[in-house]
Formats: sequence, C-alpha cells, structure tokens
Amino acid sequence: MANVHMGNGEIEWHGVKFPKYTSGIEFVRPGVAVYRPAGLINSIDIGKRTDERGVRYWAALEPIMVGLCPTDQAGGNGSFPPESTRPFGLENEPAVGGHEGVYILKAAHPRGLKILARQGIIPGDYVTGNINIGDGTCLACRRGAPALDCYNGPTFVGIGTMVEAEKWVKRETGRTQLPGAYVGSGGAVFVPISHVHKIPANMAETDRGLALGTQIDAVACAYSLWDAVGLETYVQGFRGVHELNILAIGSGRVALWGLDVLKERLGQLGARGNIFLCDTREGNLERVGDACGVPDENRYLVGRSRNPFSMRNLRSGFNYPSLGGDFRFDIAVDFAGPGALDQKRICELFDDVIAPQGIVATMAHGGYPGHELKMASGERLLKGHRLVIGLSPRNNMGRGADFLSRHANKFKPMMREIPGGLDERLAEQVASGGAAVKNEMEATVFYTRISSN
Ligand SMILES: [Zn+2]
Repeated sequence: MANVHMGNGEIEWHGVKFPKYTSGIEFVRPGVAVYRPAGLINSIDIGKRTDERGVRYWAALEPIMVGLCPTDQAGGNGSFPPESTRPFGLENEPAVGGHEGVYILKAAHPRGLKILARQGIIPGDYVTGNINIGDGTCLACRRGAPALDCYNGPTFVGIGTMVEAEKWVKRETGRTQLPGAYVGSGGAVFVPISHVHKIPANMAETDRGLALGTQIDAVACAYSLWDAVGLETYVQGFRGVHELNILAIGSGRVALWGLDVLKERLGQLGARGNIFLCDTREGNLERVGDACGVPDENRYLVGRSRNPFSMRNLRSGFNYPSLGGDFRFDIAVDFAGPGALDQKRICELFDDVIAPQGIVATMAHGGYPGHELKMASGERLLKGHRLVIGLSPRNNMGRGADFLSRHANKFKPMMREIPGGLDERLAEQVASGGAAVKNEMEATVFYTRISSN
C-alpha cells in the first residue's frame, strides 16, 4: 500500500505526545466508509495549527466511546450539511466519521487549560464536546450565539463543513473538515475549549453512565426542538391548553430523547402530552413506548401503506377511541430520519392531520425531496403553517448533560454496546446509518467503545 506511515513518529502538542498516524473509520468516497488500520489516519497535525492564529484556544480530546448516529451517514454521503462539498480520500485531511463522543481531555494551550480549570475541568477528566463550531470571531459568535448562527458558517466535527465556512476552517486548522471521534489509539478530536463540557460526576462513575454521555448531544437537540416550537409560549400563552396531542413519526432514539424532554417540560407547565407513536419496527414502539409511558392504543405499527400518515390511516393504525370525527393533532414531529416523509406528505399533514393552529416539526437534516427544500436551521412557512427545524444541539449541551444526569438510572439500561470496537463491520454500520445492527440487537441506543480506558 502506498500510504503506509507506520512508525512515522510523534507530534508533541502543548507537552503531550501524540502518534502522527493512527487507525480509524474514514469515508473514502461518498457513502463508503472503511476501517483504516493503525498508521493510516492522520488526525493530529491539526493540533499544530489550531492555536497559531490566536483566535481562541483549542483542546485535544481522546475518544473513549462514540454513539451511533445517522448524521455520520448523512455527512458521509454528502446530504449534510446542505450543499456539502466535503472532500474524500485526501491523506492530509481524511474524512473521519463519529461525532457523539465521550472523551478524555488530553491537552490544550496552558492558558486554555487555566480557563478550563476555572470551570472544574482538568486533563484526564471525562468530557464531551459540542461539535458544532462557528468561526469564533464574528459578532454572533462573540455574543455567544450557537455555531449555526455564525455569520461565516459552522463546521461539524466528523460530519463536514458548510461551504461558506471552509475558508475560516482551513485558515484556522489547516483543513476544511475536522476529524471525528472514530479514531484509534492516540488519535484526537479537536474543539475550541469553550466547546468542552464535563460529563456529570454520577455518570462518570460507571461504564454505562459514560456510555450515556454519548447521548448529551442528542438530548441537547431535543431541547433545541422544543425551543424551536416555542413550547412554553405555545402551550400557555398561545393555546392555553393543559393537554397536547402529539404525533411522533418514528419511535427510535431521537424520539426517545425528544419525547422524554417534552414530557418533563410539559410537566413543569402543569400540562401533559398525549403521545401517539408510529414506527415500522415493533421493538422501537415497545421500548420507547414503555420509556415514555405511551399506552398500547397510542402505538401504531406502520405497514406498507402508500401514505401511512394520512388521517384515515392514522385512525385505523391507532386503537385510540376518540380518534374520529374532527380530532386533530396539535404537533406532529418527524423523528424518523430520511424517507418517511416528503414535501407532499408534509403538506398533507397540514391539510388533514394537524389542528388549524398546529405545528409540524422535524429532526430530519438536509431537507425533504420534492422541491429542493433544504434546511439546516430555523423554520419555513408552508401553506401558512410553521415547519419547525430542531436538529442541532445549539447551546443546549449543558441542559442535555443535566437531563441525563438526573435520569441516569432510568436510561443507563437502554444503552447497548456494539462489540468489537473500531473494525470493518462498524465502518459498514456507520456508512449505512446502522439499520442492520438495529434490527439485529433489539435496542434503541447504541455506542461503541473506542479505547480500553
Ligand atoms: Zn461566527
């Protein structure tokens, strides 16, 4: 093989030695990921550049565990970020996947370490990272806005870079895309120190608790979803109701976090959610239905119907007695990922399924096929209704960590390890979004152990 650099030395960064090359899972062309053995992945030279520009301090994080998330697939096949021009097969900036990491803080600029220490974070601590990164210099970034709002565009570690952001990412790091968390021994993920968050103490005590830490990003997205809906204002100020009928299209991991966060926030308002779950997988209905306290008559096993989410098919899918006549849902959320809905079906939801003041929200990234409705953040007004986009952790990593810490005992048993660590099989799962492993292993939330720490 031409590109083998075994034993090709080390790089020292802020007093810590890293191997120049390691192993990892790399997208080598759109949709195709392979496992690269030790000596083939260069994840560390970025460390030489990150602090040189003096914009901000960066931290090197060593991956310990990584959550399985279809966003890696979307980044790897070029469907996210919108208009993605992610380069593949480049030796000096391999498209390494993985973004839901639990890490050990390894190194940072001494002044960066001082700032982290004031927040109680020191080298050797278990941390996670907000992998949505803005340029750090524009007015929005300086005001502390989420990376998605950066005037110069965000990069997403392990997933890709918005086209308009490539310039600043290259200038600051030497690459147009930043390596993700599926890197082997000695490899690192780089994020600005402001993006480092400590794993709560009660989660850092056990393996399962640490594994739950891989979900902080996903739970942060759940907070962003209900913030985007404007849940509290919608319930109290606008509708003045004590119960919402929620249609959840998809009953997998994203629904688990979305619905559990919803229930807690509604509870704080003295309101309740009457949740209706749809999924093509019976196991998902059962696990997420049980975790969210959804009664049997509110669970709909979706078959092969042409439009399973027409009001007519929803009526026959659920056994819910009052789902007749003029019953409409208040909010429908697409938790299902690509393929469940398209623009035509979204319009049908507005026409037949949603109450006149209802909302359709989505956790799908990359938009919907139909008329090039590409979306990354914000909302769209369709037929006079709001289509709300919730998929991003925005500034909610702290709320995500706090939620999981409070409910750790409930969710720890739901974490399922994909055995084998970094290997060819995992590369296939990452590239495909993990459908095979989901069918095989009868669980909802998956992670992989990357390091033996
Ligand atoms: Zn910015």
